Amino acid sequence: MKTLNDVKKMAETLMAKQFTFNTYFGVYTLSGEQLGYTFKFDSAKRRFGCCNYGRKTIGLSMPLCSENLDKIDTKITDTMLHELAHAFSVHVYGIIEGRGHGYNWQHIAKQIGCDGKRCFDSDKVNLPKSKYTLLCESCGKSTPKHKVIRNTYACGKCCNEHNNGKFSDKFRLKLVTNY
Ligand SMILES: [Zn+2]
Ligand SMILES: [Zn+2]
Repeated sequence: MKTLNDVKKMAETLMAKQFTFNTYFGVYTLSGEQLGYTFKFDSAKRRFGCCNYGRKTIGLSMPLCSENLDKIDTKITDTMLHELAHAFSVHVYGIIEGRGHGYNWQHIAKQIGCDGKRCFDSDKVNLPKSKYTLLCESCGKSTPKHKVIRNTYACGKCCNEHNNGKFSDKFRLKLVTNY
């Protein structure tokens, strides 16, 4: 079974990868990392990915990723490429001409392997069915929950594997509100 760690690995590989693409100003070879961008998970529920030009972060929705782990190589990879194309487009054309999903972005997006479609397509992703998700940020295991959990739990799998089966604050489960 794929986990959120597999998503993170894929995302970090793409952040470090050098892409070569043609632009109005000539050929560029760039990586997201080289432009100072870092990857992070966020807790967005209505959009899959996000590129923040100011903070230089590329984010993927943790709740949506955990519901779509079967789509790491398709939809989630495409979302990462979509966001990287935003970073490249703004770098090459500037914030005014490069932002958004116009011709400049599309031209780069298609060359780096993204399908070049605009954004979140709700019929292609599974939205979380439960109101909450208990999440282990260490191994990426997620458990759907319908009620708020007030007790503190740690991930059994991680405590067994790394802490002789004893509770460790390090593997505390995080409660994510899905909607
Ligand atoms: Zn976009
Ligand atoms: Zn765990």
